[in-house]
Amino acid sequence: MSYQPLKGQKALVTGASSGIGAGVALSLAAAGADVLVNYASSLAGAQKVVDQIKELGANAIAVKADVSKEDDVKAMFDEMLGTFGAIDILVNNAGLQQDAPFTEMTLAQWNTVLGINLTGMFLCTQLAVRAMIKRGIPPGSRCAGKVICMSSVHEVIPWAGHANYAASKGGVKLFMQTLAQELAPQKIRINSIGPGAIQTPINRAAWDTPEALASLLKLIPYGRIGIPEDIGNATVWLASDAADYVNGQTIFVDGGMTLYPEFADGG
Ligand code: NAD
Repeated sequence: MSYQPLKGQKALVTGASSGIGAGVALSLAAAGADVLVNYASSLAGAQKVVDQIKELGANAIAVKADVSKEDDVKAMFDEMLGTFGAIDILVNNAGLQQDAPFTEMTLAQWNTVLGINLTGMFLCTQLAVRAMIKRGIPPGSRCAGKVICMSSVHEVIPWAGHANYAASKGGVKLFMQTLAQELAPQKIRINSIGPGAIQTPINRAAWDTPEALASLLKLIPYGRIGIPEDIGNATVWLASDAADYVNGQTIFVDGGMTLYPEFADGG
């Protein structure tokens, strides 16, 4: 049996039917957690993750919910608490891009991205934190709950052609830090992970031809594209008591993308 720092804990991962969310759900399960696998549209994707989690010996359910819709989120948390009785870990992972030059960006593109990437975190985190406060610190844990927000290197790197996405991730930064400050007395830890380029459906165009991959690798000093497991490993650590004194931080898991790689030979 592998190291299981999250044995018996209950986790909810949004947008967990693909990409980083699926990888995070599997890493949490391998670390011993039971997982609610949220999905927006792909029941087949979510069911595959549920089956893989069960093979790891943990429990899992798939629940459909649009994180930007209050009623959906309420129903999802009812299922979480009804099935698992508590929530120890929330991973706010659901997110999307709708890219456009700023002069052509529609209000619908702006609202959709902000609604899912940022308002979705507000809705999910509020219900999670209320349940964590009500339950308090469980035996065997050092805190009442952990929230991990999937931000991006674009909470610090501006991104032309993606004003909605960059604004949403910049918003996640101060959302996360403010809640970390506000909820620390209740022994709830809130942190973010800032992925760099991770190989998932969201950025397929950036890696699915040799030319695109070569161009992407110029931005990554460590010389490889990331995989969902890289983010899963960081999530497990942040959710575990090993990170008990870590609160209000963004951990960039990016192979050095935030290190200004264009200055690597002197600028
Ligand atoms: P992805 O497209 O595979 O995953 C996004 C998931 O969010 C999908 O499963 C999608 O169904 C779900 N989703 C979208 N709208 C939803 C909604 N309204 N309600 C619930 N779920 C919804 O892409 P990914 O790369 O795995 O992205 C996961 C997160 O990581 C996103 O927040 C993204 O911004 C962030 N991120 C990804 C990268 C990367 O390089 N892949 C880099 C930085 C940040």
